[in-house]
Amino acid sequence: MHLLDRDRDPRRFVDGRVVPGSLFEKQIPAEIGDHPEPIQLSRDCQGFDRVDRFLFRRHSSEQATEAIREYLERRDISPQQQASIRRFHLITTALLHSPFQKLEEESVMTNYYDIFNTIFFYGSLKDYVKVDFNLNGLLEPGLLGLCSVPEDELPDPIPDNYAAWIQIVSLSEQEDYPSKYTRLMAYLGTLLHEMLHAYFSVCVCTCSPACLSSLNLSYGRSGHGPLWQQAALHIELATPRLLGVGLDIGRVEGAGSEWGPDWGELAPPTLLATMPPPKLPWEDLLDNSNQEYIQVEDNQGRESMIL
Ligand SMILES: [Zn+2]
Ligand SMILES: [Zn+2]
Repeated sequence: MHLLDRDRDPRRFVDGRVVPGSLFEKQIPAEIGDHPEPIQLSRDCQGFDRVDRFLFRRHSSEQATEAIREYLERRDISPQQQASIRRFHLITTALLHSPFQKLEEESVMTNYYDIFNTIFFYGSLKDYVKVDFNLNGLLEPGLLGLCSVPEDELPDPIPDNYAAWIQIVSLSEQEDYPSKYTRLMAYLGTLLHEMLHAYFSVCVCTCSPACLSSLNLSYGRSGHGPLWQQAALHIELATPRLLGVGLDIGRVEGAGSEWGPDWGELAPPTLLATMPPPKLPWEDLLDNSNQEYIQVEDNQGRESMIL
């Protein structure tokens, strides 16, 4: 969100963890009251979003999921969200209409990261996450993206100064994604999926066995535990209203990697109640793929268009 803040304190994070004694650590407000603390979202009298209590890695998975639900189930879109929705439309239209503009550039994903951070994550991810493309093709078959967080033991360390690292796999050489449109939709769904992994890592405390067991509800075995799934459902259901296009953010694939191919029998019953049956990737989009524009309306009745 605050790109200009990037690199201001070069020693904020090493391996994704806060550097003891750094300026960043000193800026984290002291805890008050109960731990873990609820995340407090509110609006000022002009309708602008405010985040009154958000502490870096001091909340529970339940609180993090509840904040997403509360933020996305509001009836009205805030001015910050409206501005980001307009930016989304402008960037998307420009990208798809210019034959010279490549999708597979870090700045493209960084822009969408900023936009999604405001629209879906109430600005909580700030500039904590590095986003770029993995241009070497598929790291493993079917893998579209990767989010490295300190809880992982991945071979590549998180770049210094970042709390998490998202890599989007380039699909430019993939026959399954022949058009710019299908590639962009895949990248946007993947980016939201990976941002949700980063979100839980940035929110959730790991100070005690109780906090770790709460982290496990979102982290699970593969990163796609029941609360990750629930938050993903809130986000996915909000994409048509907020973006004008329904994105597939890989919940079905996440459930498969968490519980295996028979995940329907193993997933918690409360989750299954909210989980639509598996669908083919991009099933929702196929009908629209030849259509140039989708009309969307913001909460003041103004229409805008996106591809
Ligand atoms: Zn804790
Ligand atoms: Zn994942």
